Amino acid sequence: VAAAWDVAVVGGGVVGCAVAYALARRGARVVLLERDRVAAGASYGAGGMLAPQVEAHGPGPLLRLGLASRDLFPALEAEVGPFDLDLRGIVRVAHTEAGAAELAARAAWQREQGLEARLLEPSEVRSLFPDLGSPPLAALWVPDGRLVPERLTRALALAAVRHGAVVREGVPVRSVRPGRVETGEGPVVAAHVVVSAGAWSADLAPVPVRPVKGQRVLVRHSRPLLDRVLWGDGCYLVPQPGGRVLIGATEEPEAGFDRRPTAAAVARLLARAVELVPALGEAEVLEAWAGLRPDTPDHLPLLGPLGEGGVWAATGHYRNGILLAPVTGERLAAALLEGEPLPGECLPDRFRG
Ligand SMILES: Cc1cc2nc3c(=O)[nH]c(=O)nc-3n(C[C@H](O)[C@H](O)[C@H](O)COP(=O)(O)OP(=O)(O)OC[C@H]3O[C@@H](n4cnc5c(N)ncnc54)[C@H](O)[C@@H]3O)c2cc1C
Repeated sequence: VAAAWDVAVVGGGVVGCAVAYALARRGARVVLLERDRVAAGASYGAGGMLAPQVEAHGPGPLLRLGLASRDLFPALEAEVGPFDLDLRGIVRVAHTEAGAAELAARAAWQREQGLEARLLEPSEVRSLFPDLGSPPLAALWVPDGRLVPERLTRALALAAVRHGAVVREGVPVRSVRPGRVETGEGPVVAAHVVVSAGAWSADLAPVPVRPVKGQRVLVRHSRPLLDRVLWGDGCYLVPQPGGRVLIGATEEPEAGFDRRPTAAAVARLLARAVELVPALGEAEVLEAWAGLRPDTPDHLPLLGPLGEGGVWAATGHYRNGILLAPVTGERLAAALLEGEPLPGECLPDRFRG
């Protein structure tokens, strides 16, 4: 039988939606299969920081890919948006000597790489963040940014549909093999299958992906308290439209697939946030939420073929799936449809014995 679809994409998180969009825009016949609804997983409530310079511990593939992806967002927002993109920078502040030394070292190595990274004067910090509590020992500005992840994910799904893709929600995928996907609604025949099921990807394909639970709290203040992302010693604060502030995040690898927010984590996050910006104490608490980051042994994504049969992985984006979604879609679509090479550090066969 001729395949009904060129590509079946499994998972409607930001990664699956970015892949579906990039493929459909190139003219492929794409079906996306999501067991729940689009943006039901980690991509719903993530911090939404586009933070290659804040997240990278040094030069390397994560920084390279992250910078390339950050550059794609303005054009992407013009094509599929809006998703509240703001690339006016992230400020990291340190209230300890060790933290201040880390920020100075980070500024130095990033400038050596030709990147913008600027230690701010105390007066600049005060004027950028008038509601900041105790003054930090050091503050670093880098040209990273933020957006609202659920909006990005939905915008990508809708744009894929505009380019002819079919998005099927409420369709659980039971198994994946070359040319064929078994679902709760019957088989789907496709020449290629892309596994982008986030933290659950190992249920469907031989990939070393495991969940790392992260909790965050969303609050709203009657006046806008923050104009940029502020990253402190124990939490980060991401401003969103309408006076909302997202307070993140925990890292709980021991929690497995548990997605329940807990009192202790919420209490800790709120306490750190109020210490950093005391006026947040008056904010209304809107939502506590936990998601599962799809982690890999070396914390780099898995991007590329799983064997020879047309099954592909696009998963394992761990802490940076929102940031890396555009570059993932573009590179995977170019590889799958045009035979372009993928970044060697991300090929799934790096974990083969
Ligand atoms: C608290 C927190 C804060 C974060 N902050 C940031 C940030 O600031 N910046 C950043 O870049 N990243 C951040 N991340 C990471 C980011 O959220 C993830 O890397 C990204 O969302 C992963 O996207 P995904 O599409 O791979 O997975 P998901 O969004 O989890 O999507 C996977 C989808 O697959 C579906 N699925 C699973 N199994 C099946 C099946 N068998 N059949 C059909 N469908 C299936 C699920 O229902 C789900 O919708 C954060 C994560 C957390 C938890």
